[in-house]
Amino acid sequence: MSVLVVGSVALDTVETPFGKVDDALGGSATYFSAAACHFTDVNVVAVVGEDFPFSKIDFLKDRGVNFDGLIQKPGKTFRWGGKYHLDLNQRDTLFTHLNVFEQFDPVLPEHYREIPYIFLANIHPQLQLKVLEQIKKPQLVVMDTMNFWIEGTPESLKQVLKKINILIINDSEVRLLSGETNLFLGIKKLLQLGPQMLVIKKGEHGAFLFNNHAYFWTPAYPLEQLFDPTGAGDSFAGGFVGYLAKTGYVCDKNLRKGVVYGSILGSFCVEKFSLDRLREIELEDIEQRYQQFVRMTKIE
Ligand code: AMP
Repeated sequence: MSVLVVGSVALDTVETPFGKVDDALGGSATYFSAAACHFTDVNVVAVVGEDFPFSKIDFLKDRGVNFDGLIQKPGKTFRWGGKYHLDLNQRDTLFTHLNVFEQFDPVLPEHYREIPYIFLANIHPQLQLKVLEQIKKPQLVVMDTMNFWIEGTPESLKQVLKKINILIINDSEVRLLSGETNLFLGIKKLLQLGPQMLVIKKGEHGAFLFNNHAYFWTPAYPLEQLFDPTGAGDSFAGGFVGYLAKTGYVCDKNLRKGVVYGSILGSFCVEKFSLDRLREIELEDIEQRYQQFVRMTKIE
């Protein structure tokens, strides 16, 4: 099955204890595509400004990612700046300049409207809604968000939640969105807002899948080299949704494997700055790590 992603294509300025990059390629749709393209066809909806260096996404085009829905508008490309602490789980957002995203009104190319698997990456919830409304027969709708939208546009966000199947979110966002300090009570509350399932990302502590009748947990890949956590969540989503789309069948087994593939793509993402590591890997690298996961989590 093909996947449509709407999200940001960005220029990021990121500082970690290991270095700094300015105006590096980033964005939720970009990281997602770099991960999901190993499994299926990916079709991007986003906007960039006049200053966007298109050569930076050539490697994604070479991997088959379709950018027919990437529009260029007068103005500047979306820019985000972040700084990580020595504990890389802690980051401060230094700035979020929406720029061309402020006026963006997505109109999908006709051939995008038939796409069955949809990923609403981290972007303004109204844009997520506008894209979803144009899809004729969505089979699976997965969504991500972040504190910027939870705090800034909570009502729009709740409208989107009513229309999706799976919400991918991290533990602090569960607490922020639900108003509950206990994670599991928070999850139960969010399940009442629309999604049938939640995937909770817990960084170096792994990820889990939760619905009203099942619970699955996987550890994170034990990495010794971690340079830049930016985009790990979007890469996780790319592995998860990409794998599900490849199977074309959402069942318990595929969901579990999807969470493992998500964790694997997230683990590659953080090994270098920007998309530099995702650019290098091939499907066989992913499969090797999958086998390590199988060995790592086998009980008997
Ligand atoms: P993650 O580390 O998975 O949360 O994703 C970081 C990526 O999301 C960066 O490449 C940013 O360009 C992008 N990003 C950060 N804030 C926003 C936002 N408010 N809307 C859309 N994309 C964002």
